[in-house]
Amino acid sequence: MRIAIVGGGIGGLATAVCLERQGFDDIVLLEQAPEFTEIGAGIQVSNNGARLLRHLGLEDELRARGVVSGGNYYYDIEDGELILETRAGEWGEKTYGAPFFHIHRHHLLDILHKAVVRTRLRLGTAVTGVEQDENVVRLTTAAGDVVEADVVIGADGIRSTLRAELFGATQPDASGYVCWRALIPRERLEGVDVPPSCTAWWGPDRSGVVFWVNGGTHMNFVGTVPSGEVRSEAWESRGDIEDLRRSYAGATEPLATIVNAIETPFITGIFTRPLLEQWTVGRIALLGDAAHPIWPFLANGATQALEDAYVLSRCLARGSVDAVAESLREFQQRRWGRVAEVARVSREMATVYHLSDPAAIARRNDQMRERAKTDPYGLWLRGWLWGYDVVSAADAPLDRSAAAAAPTLV
Ligand SMILES: Cc1cc2nc3c(=O)[nH]c(=O)nc-3n(C[C@H](O)[C@H](O)[C@H](O)COP(=O)(O)OP(=O)(O)OC[C@H]3O[C@@H](n4cnc5c(N)ncnc54)[C@H](O)[C@@H]3O)c2cc1C
Repeated sequence: MRIAIVGGGIGGLATAVCLERQGFDDIVLLEQAPEFTEIGAGIQVSNNGARLLRHLGLEDELRARGVVSGGNYYYDIEDGELILETRAGEWGEKTYGAPFFHIHRHHLLDILHKAVVRTRLRLGTAVTGVEQDENVVRLTTAAGDVVEADVVIGADGIRSTLRAELFGATQPDASGYVCWRALIPRERLEGVDVPPSCTAWWGPDRSGVVFWVNGGTHMNFVGTVPSGEVRSEAWESRGDIEDLRRSYAGATEPLATIVNAIETPFITGIFTRPLLEQWTVGRIALLGDAAHPIWPFLANGATQALEDAYVLSRCLARGSVDAVAESLREFQQRRWGRVAEVARVSREMATVYHLSDPAAIARRNDQMRERAKTDPYGLWLRGWLWGYDVVSAADAPLDRSAAAAAPTLV
């Protein structure tokens, strides 16, 4: 079977790895950038993603280049009191079947890139168009080449060309939030005692999240604020440090010290799209952000792309070149419910994180602390997400591959 993957981000490279592991050997990956590259920031690979990467034989690399996380600790941004713990660490490894990692995005991409063995990687190749009949798909590149394949996977991100070709061109919606991001060398954080966990501070209207990457030499900072508080909102644009400091004036320690230690922040707009009802048309399927951009407040968009990649590879492996459309429909059927829940809860988490009304904040904090009396490690919030075993789900009878129930937060 001739398979073409459009996009070499986490989703596209993971798709190549998973397809190779299923025995496919005629794969081409087309990436518009001249090299595989990710923005200079950290990423969380929760237990469900790490479990799949372990299955693919990549856990040692993750351990070597990432940091094993103790879990997520959420504090009030004003009084610094703990609101919620969702534990990972050793307990999480036993409970969810794999550790939780923090890693630099570039390192994760590099691990996936190195795991690709037989796929032909065509860098500097932007896909500009696609057409198909019942036997073949033809991709057109910016250079005017035509690439033929039996199946095409669109892993080309939130501004996907393939999505536009299949379902019409629309701009992603601005979420109303922007993220400040920075990597801070450990030397600049003398006296700051932050464990190897994800530490977050909530509200009003803003949040700050930090975790260690690069084996613990750098702290990754992600700060979400209303978009009206900054003057530019473009991927990778350098932010004005005075805007950043103003947004976190009065924050509790050690967040205040961490923000002051930042030298070169940049700004990522958070964009979104409504969840498509359909991710496949004939011999073409979308996955990852091309199919379903997910708000970042469960830190699971990339991990969902990993899960997509594995399920897709199993569906194609069970099928045949004459029944590609059926395999792709099965892929969507197995994934849609899970992704819809992750997308919904991620969006609800944005509300939980960024409440502004003091009474609502007090109510949220009380409810979370009350819940912790019987569920101290936050299973109610994480069990359905981090405990998901995509390797089993990909081969389970269809009626039993559905996601476990996720909580309703707002
Ligand atoms: C602030 C923030 C924090 C986040 N934190 C986390 C986290 O901690 N954990 C997590 O799991 N997720 C996180 N996410 C989500 C995660 O970043 C995305 O879900 C993930 O990167 C999507 O990967 P992808 O491969 O689908 O798309 P992308 O990473 O966008 O990759 C798409 C690739 O396709 C290429 N491409 C695009 N168009 C074309 C074309 N026409 N031809 C050829 N190539 C093309 C691009 O160059 C790119 O390489 C976060 C997101 C944000 C905004």
